[in-house]
Amino acid sequence: MIITKSLAELETMREAGRITAACLRIVGEAVRPGITTAELDALAEEYIRGEGALPAFKGYHGFPATLCTSVDEEVVHGIPGPRVLTEGQILSVDCGAIVEGYYGDAARTFPVGAVSAEVTRLLEVTRASLEAGTACCRPDMRLFDISHAVQHVVEDAGFSVVREYVGHGIGRTMHEEPQVPNYGPAGKGPQLKPGMVFAIEPMVNAGGAPVRSLDDGWTVVTEDGSRSAHFENTIAVTEEGPLVLTRE
Ligand code: MG
Ligand code: MG
Repeated sequence: MIITKSLAELETMREAGRITAACLRIVGEAVRPGITTAELDALAEEYIRGEGALPAFKGYHGFPATLCTSVDEEVVHGIPGPRVLTEGQILSVDCGAIVEGYYGDAARTFPVGAVSAEVTRLLEVTRASLEAGTACCRPDMRLFDISHAVQHVVEDAGFSVVREYVGHGIGRTMHEEPQVPNYGPAGKGPQLKPGMVFAIEPMVNAGGAPVRSLDDGWTVVTEDGSRSAHFENTIAVTEEGPLVLTRE
């Protein structure tokens, strides 16, 4: 069952989303060669708690940090630590905040210093695929219209969408029904309704789609070692169209 949220609930989710988005902006402004992912994590936790919110990921299924920080071929769920970022890398940062029991969830991929034109294109295409999926969050669309829109943008650009990890409903828990795959047939799936809220999160590989998990039990990497980008927002379906909750 897909849980729809009231306008009052959306207001609270908007605040969780605002804090999540601001946190990602602050982290993004701090990304530079020489900084460690643990330093970025500390910055994020301090900001979220300072806003009176809670980090959504810390302790989630035992995850040890506020952020997921995934470098280059790491797709998602990288653990912050002593790793020093270097020029030319990309860093995917996933972040969540809880306000009055409601969740916000978003991700951005940042270049570390100057990156190649092809890497810039990977980031632009991934962001554009999220925008295409977002545009489908309207009551006249079906769930897999979102999936299809994301896949279309990514594959037209010659990149691959990850199959094993997907977007999701979100509200009083971080992961609610339904799953929101980044691939699928247009015109299929449940009809969208006002008050539904989805975290849409394309994970896009420069090379092939297959991924595997590292021995730390968390970090997911591309099978072929190609780079991967990740953009995510929490978005409500409204009568007026998509409402992005994870923005400032
Ligand atoms: Mg996320
Ligand atoms: Mg998510």
